[in-house]
Amino acid sequence: EQHPLSPIVVMMPSPGMGHLIPLTEFAKRLILHHNLSVTIIIPTNSPPSMAQTTVLRSLPSAISYIFLPPVTLSDLPPHTKAEPLISLTVLRSLPSLRHSLLSLNATVTALVVDLFGTDAFDVANDLNIPSYLYFTCNAMVLSFCIFLPRLDQSVQCEFVDLPEPVRILGCIPVEGKDLLDPVQDKSDDAYKWFVHHSGRFKLAHGIILNSFHALEPAAIKELQKQEPGKPPVYPVGPLVNMDRAQTGSHECLSWLDGKPRGSVVFVCFGSGGTLSSVQMDELAIGLEMSEQNFLWVVKSPNDKVANGSYFSAESLANPFDFLPKGFVERTKGRGFMVSSWAPQAQVLSHGSIGGFLTHCGWNSILESVVNGVPLVAWPLYAEQKMNAVLVSEDVKVALRPKVGENGLVGREEIASVVKRLMEGEEGKKLCHQMKELKDVAVKILSENGSSTKYISDLALKWQDKTTTLTN
Ligand code: UDP
Repeated sequence: EQHPLSPIVVMMPSPGMGHLIPLTEFAKRLILHHNLSVTIIIPTNSPPSMAQTTVLRSLPSAISYIFLPPVTLSDLPPHTKAEPLISLTVLRSLPSLRHSLLSLNATVTALVVDLFGTDAFDVANDLNIPSYLYFTCNAMVLSFCIFLPRLDQSVQCEFVDLPEPVRILGCIPVEGKDLLDPVQDKSDDAYKWFVHHSGRFKLAHGIILNSFHALEPAAIKELQKQEPGKPPVYPVGPLVNMDRAQTGSHECLSWLDGKPRGSVVFVCFGSGGTLSSVQMDELAIGLEMSEQNFLWVVKSPNDKVANGSYFSAESLANPFDFLPKGFVERTKGRGFMVSSWAPQAQVLSHGSIGGFLTHCGWNSILESVVNGVPLVAWPLYAEQKMNAVLVSEDVKVALRPKVGENGLVGREEIASVVKRLMEGEEGKKLCHQMKELKDVAVKILSENGSSTKYISDLALKWQDKTTTLTN
């Protein structure tokens, strides 16, 4: 039971399901055994999407939410990338964030933002509220970000032209081409925004990291070395959506019920991932050639349908219209297609799933880890190539298909990796390694586990503070 005057932790996810979902998961853990409530304040540039409201409506009563009035982005050039769009949505929402914080009429003991929300630190500072960063990705990417302002000063060329891979403390070396998208073109605004946010991480009172020691031992150890001006890092992961009842039943789950244990590969490219129509054809034929069972979340190809899916998660046309001719009939019984959005957390926890072909969004990877499902790593955008390097070369729980010279992953390559994952010795090894991580995850998330302990430490800190709002 919440005390009526229990302190409030405010969380502000920047636009995108990949930011909202992890923050709500953190919120759910935080309130579990603590006298705290959470208010999620959401900056937007459009009306709430179905995906957003479904997640928010299912939250426990100690977590409330407020949509800030939508800001306008219509003055931005048409091809502005996601990073500036997200950052500007946050920046232009700061006055209404401030207003909301002041009107909460309670003690706000912390503001938690994600990596694109660092401009809100100033508002929090002004109001005497300590602010924290919730980093929705792994230790490898966090270390890179912390290192980036220095790299920006010392590296003159584009990272892709560096003769040597980049060495990040405690991490496997990463080639320039595999670094995250926003640093691939220094002349783009996306890069400037990224360096801007990365440089502000050190202003946080603490950095909460959705990863865990067994997954990234050396990288986390480096991050936790104490140095002046370096915020403490709390590895609280893997925090993922584990609430299987959340979205109720779905026809794809009943379809899975009829399939043998571990026999289905789940194919999904996250909330924003789309393929070109040629690439979509290759994938379809590749899946068909693999002769494996598959469950595929299909989205309209990005060269045929204007794609606003990052923000809305729902594509506008019927994606099935773009599948190769006769494909649905030929794969009947063996393949099942879902349009645009599937209850991924539930799907991955279904016993019939034996592999996951993923775009390597960090939440998707963690959701696979907690269910012990090995991966095919097919990164598309953002930091996903770094994640793919981590899971395939370092942690060794994924196969990474080769991209051909034409920039496409060919049908034979797709058929071959899917087969190797689902049938081969190699697949078994990856599966074994994944199951071990799953066991660790269960342990550290249990009552006496390290992740639970880190969350408790934060909750106790935030419970005690009697900061009052000035102004
Ligand atoms: N997701 C889902 N159904 C879909 C696609 C995505 O439930 O069809 C969820 C997925 O379970 C994850 C989140 O959306 O929690 C996507 O986050 P991730 O970091 O993997 O990728 P992003 O969408 O941010 O690129």
